[in-house]
Amino acid sequence: MAHRTPIESGCPDNRPFLHPKLAKNYGNWKYHDRPRPGVLHHVAWDGDEVWTVRAGTQRQMDVYTIRKLCDIADTYADGHVRFTIRSNIEFMVGDPNKVAPLINALTESGFPVGGTGNSVSMIAHTQGWLHCDIPGTDASGAVKALMDDLYTEFIREEMPNRVHMSTSCCEINCGGQADIAIIMQHTKPPKINHDLVANVCERPAVVARCPVAAIRPALVNGKPSLEVDEKKCICCGACYPPCPPMQINDPEHSKLAIWVGGKNSNARGKPTFMKMVASGIPNNPPRWPEVSAIVKKILYTYKEDARPWERLSDWVERIGWPRFFEKCDLPFTKYLIDDWRGSRANLNASAHIRF
Ligand code: SF4
Ligand code: SF4
Repeated sequence: MAHRTPIESGCPDNRPFLHPKLAKNYGNWKYHDRPRPGVLHHVAWDGDEVWTVRAGTQRQMDVYTIRKLCDIADTYADGHVRFTIRSNIEFMVGDPNKVAPLINALTESGFPVGGTGNSVSMIAHTQGWLHCDIPGTDASGAVKALMDDLYTEFIREEMPNRVHMSTSCCEINCGGQADIAIIMQHTKPPKINHDLVANVCERPAVVARCPVAAIRPALVNGKPSLEVDEKKCICCGACYPPCPPMQINDPEHSKLAIWVGGKNSNARGKPTFMKMVASGIPNNPPRWPEVSAIVKKILYTYKEDARPWERLSDWVERIGWPRFFEKCDLPFTKYLIDDWRGSRANLNASAHIRF
């Protein structure tokens, strides 16, 4: 068999796959609007029009669901689809008469049409058990439980501004800034299986990984292993991916936390980092009711109280953090105080790319 050279050129060029009207008018649009929630309408300078219908998906899809979506694209749209960063699927059509049958076909197949404008868009969720080896919870399950409750907020545009949510099934990797984020929170240092460390882990790599220098090489029962200074350990879990014998996931002590007020955009105000507002919430599958209750309380308080076009962070800034905790019935504890001063100098708070 001929040797196949890997292609190291990044993601493929999307232009061959664009809807013909999008390809023709690339970068040449006169205006766009939203005729209804879930539908975007673009008008080009030469009069071409394109309607984009957005629907929510469960992100981790079996082959039958993907085939169903492809059949809908072939039958009711022009065969062109794309996925958004929040796992919504978008179908493009060049004929206004195709919009309503497409929406009906999607709705009847169980894919809600919405997620545009001032709605609660699909929760950007991390990969969990399916692709990753370190999750402490099932991010997809928590998302499913919450979006079942927020269905009407997805198909309507009734929030003060757009609401982006995210989940993270560990403390250190995927996820990202969001108006409301659900994040794994370990509360106990890792438990080390000393019999396995020498065979499985590169000890210098693990020692270097710890952000607070809490790990030291050690000899345990005559074997090379590691030890953790538990007074220093901040329970971040960064040692667990390179060294699985440093197990940090725990059915009782791995909890969930809720953070609010992050955003990536530069619109109306600079990007903001989110802050933790609730911690120690039970990691309670299959429906995570405690998490859903707190998220919904924050979301609906924001919906009631914010002025038009205030993002969640703008609303909290205006009313002040003490009022936020009061209004959302959340206890303020010392664990919520961000006392890491290094962040002021070390974290990049700009959405601009620098080289
Ligand atoms: S958030 Fe962490 S555990 Fe979840 S998929 Fe990403 S790296 Fe894996
Ligand atoms: S959990 Fe984090 S702080 Fe604790 S030992 Fe591991 S890497 Fe260090």
